[in-house]
Amino acid sequence: MSKAFDIGIEALATASPCEPPAAPAQTSPAGASGFRANEIPASAPNGKSFYIETFGCQMNAHDSEKVAGVLIERGYAAAESMAQADLVLYNTCSIREKAAQKVFSRLGELRYASPRKVIGVLGCVAQQEGEEIFERAPWVSLVCGSASYRKLPELVARLDEGGRRVTGLDLDTDETFETEITRRDNPIRAYLTIIEGCDYACSYCVVPHTRGPERSRASESVLAEARRLAGAGYTEIQLLGQTVNSYRDPSPRGLHFVELLREVAAVDGIRRVRFTTSHPNDFHRAIVEAIDDTPALCDHVHLPVQSGSTPILRAMRRTYTRDEYLEKISWIRAARRPISITSDIIVGFPGETEKDFEQSITLLDAVGYDSIFSFKYSPRPNTSAAAMPDAVPEEEKAARLAILMDRQRQIQIARNEKLVGGTFEVLVDGRHESRNQWAGRTTSNRPVNFTSPRQNLLGEYVQVKITRASANSVAGEQVI
Ligand code: SAM
Ligand code: SF4
Repeated sequence: MSKAFDIGIEALATASPCEPPAAPAQTSPAGASGFRANEIPASAPNGKSFYIETFGCQMNAHDSEKVAGVLIERGYAAAESMAQADLVLYNTCSIREKAAQKVFSRLGELRYASPRKVIGVLGCVAQQEGEEIFERAPWVSLVCGSASYRKLPELVARLDEGGRRVTGLDLDTDETFETEITRRDNPIRAYLTIIEGCDYACSYCVVPHTRGPERSRASESVLAEARRLAGAGYTEIQLLGQTVNSYRDPSPRGLHFVELLREVAAVDGIRRVRFTTSHPNDFHRAIVEAIDDTPALCDHVHLPVQSGSTPILRAMRRTYTRDEYLEKISWIRAARRPISITSDIIVGFPGETEKDFEQSITLLDAVGYDSIFSFKYSPRPNTSAAAMPDAVPEEEKAARLAILMDRQRQIQIARNEKLVGGTFEVLVDGRHESRNQWAGRTTSNRPVNFTSPRQNLLGEYVQVKITRASANSVAGEQVI
């Protein structure tokens, strides 16, 4: 068994849209290359190697897979470690201040690296800080934001020719990042970006400033990729976008999100389709109807609410009220299939009173989330919230976060306990050698750890009877 699959239970349980998932990275059942069999490219090696370290969300994780594809196309090989690589790329996140700071501290570690090592900064920090990065870290040679990734082949060619400082910082684009090759790190589930950028303007958020305007991929390109993934042996696809459900096909077919969902779910060989992140404003009943009548669409909706207080939602420019959000939740709860609901919540937004915060707590109870990702508000550059008065002190934010997490933990324990005694289909994606347990997820995205007398279950769908529940996962045994 490959060590790469020995993923910690907690890491799986907390994999968030904002944290790179604990991917069973780098080694696939199909071989040691990180590719499934028919994705392995044949390009002439150029004798150089690369290493990418990724910070942030699933979109970033998948962008890194595509950037790796661009490099492999140019003849680069994947290095085992940063120390061995000729080209080191940091794919960065600036959603919260801490994430952005981490990038500069990691860059500092490369200050005395060999001058032959080429270092690049990609992603949100690259876009946000731009050429300033060359001032703060003169050992960096490439700075490129995600809206310019389609120019990467040209930028890497300039580096290969000895270029010292190359940049891709255009934000104003209507193009998406398409690659011939994608070096997929997760052999069990495949990411597929259908929409890039964001046209919303939430007052706390850097994404529209770092990822540029919303642009959808042509449906034919998305479906061709889904068919290629199925052909390569993938059975689970996760459609990605910052506002995935505002997808609108730019090609003459003009598919809406739900129509695309149904077509991806109909691809031969695909058994599970997930999608993240949905914006409540674009969440329509038709999505619930599609989940209800399409078994391949997973029983899970991630619907970030951000706050339970309507005045705070207005200040956040979220475009819906608490009641409008709860109405959408009632559509999901009325579905014939039990659909799990997860969310993102920010505490301590400027001006959030005790009463506003209490509204977020009561919302947890009103919805009964299966899990949430909760954050202390972090002021970000170029966002209108950064200049808002009535900042909540850090200690108060921390105290509110602890109360919110504690309440949600109790809700999760109660929800998970109801599953004990039931049997669920699990797609196996990990192994805990030390505990002699397999790990996987139900269609509702619930982490399941289980025992089995069988060997080599990775990538298989198995039936698991649940015998124990905790806040972040359930445990059981395979039904043979
Ligand atoms: N597009 C998604 C949406 O609209 O819900 C979210 C994208 S963002 C990468 C992921 C999450 O980070 C958000 O849902 C929000 O909860 C959190 N977030 C974004 N900006 C933040 C900030 N300035 N401080 C704290 N959390 C933030
Ligand atoms: Fe950020 Fe709002 Fe766009 Fe989500 S919808 S990426 S939170 S601006």
